[in-house]
Formats: sequence, structure tokens, C-alpha cells
Amino acid sequence: MARIGFVGLGHMGLPMARNLARAGHEVRGYDLSAAAMDAAAEGGIQRAQSAPDAARGADFVITMLPAGTHVRAAWAEMAGAVEPHAVLVDCSTIDVETAREVAAGLPMLDAPVSGGTMGAEAGTLTFMVGGEAADFATAKPILEHMGRSIVHCGAAGAGQAAKLCNNMLLAISMIGTSEAFVLAEKLGLSHAALFEVASKSSGQCWSLTTYCPVPGPVPGSPANRDYKPGFATALMLKDLGLSQQAAQAAGAATPLGAAALDLYDRFAAEGGASLDFSGIIQMLRRGQVKGSGA
Ligand code: NAD
Repeated sequence: MARIGFVGLGHMGLPMARNLARAGHEVRGYDLSAAAMDAAAEGGIQRAQSAPDAARGADFVITMLPAGTHVRAAWAEMAGAVEPHAVLVDCSTIDVETAREVAAGLPMLDAPVSGGTMGAEAGTLTFMVGGEAADFATAKPILEHMGRSIVHCGAAGAGQAAKLCNNMLLAISMIGTSEAFVLAEKLGLSHAALFEVASKSSGQCWSLTTYCPVPGPVPGSPANRDYKPGFATALMLKDLGLSQQAAQAAGAATPLGAAALDLYDRFAAEGGASLDFSGIIQMLRRGQVKGSGA
């Protein structure tokens, strides 16, 4: 049994912390929200009075916070409280630069996740991890209570880099898949026929065969429930912003990533922010992207 401090008990953090408590670990949690603290207490998580209070005496300290500014502030606040032997893990999705700066000189891993709230509940998340191999080896058994696939991607920041590259690719492939269906509709080609051909041809991709943006071909996809997320457009927009920030800082040419950011920005502004990101097909179908820089 390990002692674990957990800071940030929101949509993702709470079910993750609950899975650690369920596995028999002693989890002390902290969140700024009183409602989150009450829900955590019901899930077997001890109440800490502050982030440093959660970190004190812990073998592992985990954060699951909205953005880089929160992550910076929380770790600065906990600096004097963490034990010298503790392994520190930030699971938030943040920019690569902040991840590297916060981890500098510390036994710290950046470990963003994919799998959403359903994966967090079920303990089936994918963890993309950056940091020292020894810290990864120490933390892996703990991460395995919350995830099914735990991948060491490289040095500090590599977990965030993997997450941003993957989600940029996902956004581009979802827009491409949606455009193919919109064109098929205009050409009188049925969804079923396009799916049948493309899923077995060179157009095959996850956005088509697992997360199809039109109802029918993949019964579990959000298109079958009016684009209820799933993975909300607002979260995709955040990740695309981070990927463009990283591309600019690194001098990488990502014109389709930039176009995807522009299109998702428009979709969110038109009311799609809380819809699943595959709902962008609705905007493409309306043809309101003429004159777009994309
Ligand atoms: P959320 O807003 O539901 O939860 C964040 C929690 O952090 C809130 O409860 C907030 O009160 C708390 N918080 C903020 N500052 C704090 C501080 N200084 N001390 C203590 N608590 C503080 O967000 P979420 O959906 O749980 O997402 C968390 C992270 O996971 C984000 O970086 C997000 O991008 C990433 N992520 C989310 C999903 C998803 O489907 N929701 C999927 C993958 C990754």
C-alpha cells in the first residue's frame, strides 16, 4: 500500500483517485471545489486541507489540473511539503515547455492521458509518460490502477509531446473523414457505401472505423446520440492550441494542424464547444467554411 496525495478532483481526477483508493492505497485528496471534496470523501478519499497537506508524507503526489498555470502554481505551493523519496506525477494536459520547467531537478513525470472520463471511471486510460526511466518504473504500478496502457515516451516533456502530436493527428483525420462523408452526400453516395469501401481501403483510420462522424456504420459513435461527448470540442480545441504553440516554438510546419485549429475554433464559436468533436461534420455540411483561411 502506498500513500498518495492527489490534487485536482474534477471530471478526470476524481474517478482516477477513486480507483487508487479502491485498489487499497491511502489517498489524500485536495480540490479548490467543496463539492469535489465531498464527492471524493464518498469515494474513500481522505480530505486534505490544502495541496501541501495532500503532499506531506506521500510516496506519490499526483496532479490533475486544467492547464499549465494551475500546474505551475500547485507544484510551487507544494515544493516545501513533498518528501525527498516521493515520485511526482502530473497527469494534466499542458504545454511541453511548462512540463519541462516544472519537472526540472525533480523526480517528476509528465503523464497526460487519453480515454476520457469513461476511461478514468473504468481504469482503462492510456498514459503517455515523460521523465527518468527509474521514476517511470517506480510509478508504473500506481498508474496501472488507473490505466491499461502505460507508455514511457522519453525524457521530461515527452508525454505531453506524444499527447499533442496524437490529438493534432486525430483532429485532422476527423475533419478529413467528415469532409469525405459531406462530399459523398453531395455526390449521392450513401454513408454505408463509403464506409464499406473506405474502411477496407487506404482511407481507413480510427476516426472512420471506431468513431464514425455519421450515424449508422459504427453504432457506438457519438454521431448516434446527437454528438453528445465523448470528447468535447472545447477539449480538442485546447489540445490543438497547445500543439500549435509547440509547433511554433519548435519551428515545425503543421499547416493542417493550424487549419484544424481554425475550423474547431469556428465550430466552438457557433455553439459546438460542448458537442463531441466529431460533430464538426455538421458545420462542414452547412458549408459555412467558405472564405476560411483553412
Ligand atoms: P476539471 O475542470 O473537471 O477538473 C479540474 C479540477 O482542478 C477542478 O475540480 C478544479 O477545482 C481543480 N483545481 C484547479 N486548480 C486547483 C488547485 N490549485 N488546487 C486544487 N484543485 C484545483 O477538468 P478535467 O476534465 O478533470 O481535466 C483535467 C485535465 O485532464 C485537463 O488538463 C484536461 O485537458 C485533461 N484531460 C481531460 C479529459 C476529459 O475528457 N475531461 C481527457 C483527457 C485529458
